[in-house]
Amino acid sequence: MQISTHQLAKGTKFETPYYIIKGNSVGNTVMITAGVQGDETANILAAKKLLDLLQKDILHIENGMLIIVPIVNQIAYKRRIRDIPDLNRTFLRKPNQAASHPLSAALFQLTKQFNPEWYIDLHEARGIFRSVSSFTSTSKQHAMSAIQI
Ligand SMILES: [Zn+2]
Repeated sequence: MQISTHQLAKGTKFETPYYIIKGNSVGNTVMITAGVQGDETANILAAKKLLDLLQKDILHIENGMLIIVPIVNQIAYKRRIRDIPDLNRTFLRKPNQAASHPLSAALFQLTKQFNPEWYIDLHEARGIFRSVSSFTSTSKQHAMSAIQI
C-alpha cells in the first residue's frame, strides 16, 4: 500500500491537500470528500481519522485506490462557517454546465480524472435524531450523525 499527498486547486487560495492510497493490486477506486461546508466538522474528523488509521498502517487497502479529500473548503473550515456561497450549491447540475466556483470546479476535475466507482461526500446532519424524545444530548446528536452518506 502506498500513500501520496497532492494539492487540489494548487496555487490558488483554495489549495487543499488530498491523499491517494493505492493498494498493491488493481481494483475499484473510491473517493471520499469531507469539509465541503466549513461549519460541519464531524465529517472532517471522520475523514482525518480514516486517513490516520491508513497512515499508521492500522487499516490497509489491498486492491484498488482510495482518494481522500479531508477538508475540501479550508477557508470556510478555518472560520467555521458554511461559506458564502455554499460550496455544495456550486457544482454543476447538468452535464454541459460548468461549476460556478473554482474549488468545486477543481474537485469535479479531480473526480473526472479518477472516475471512481464510488464517491462518498461526508456531511453532518444536526438534529437528525430530534424526533427521538429520549435523546437530549446535543453532543451525542452530533457524534451520532457524524457520518451521513
Ligand atoms: Zn453538509
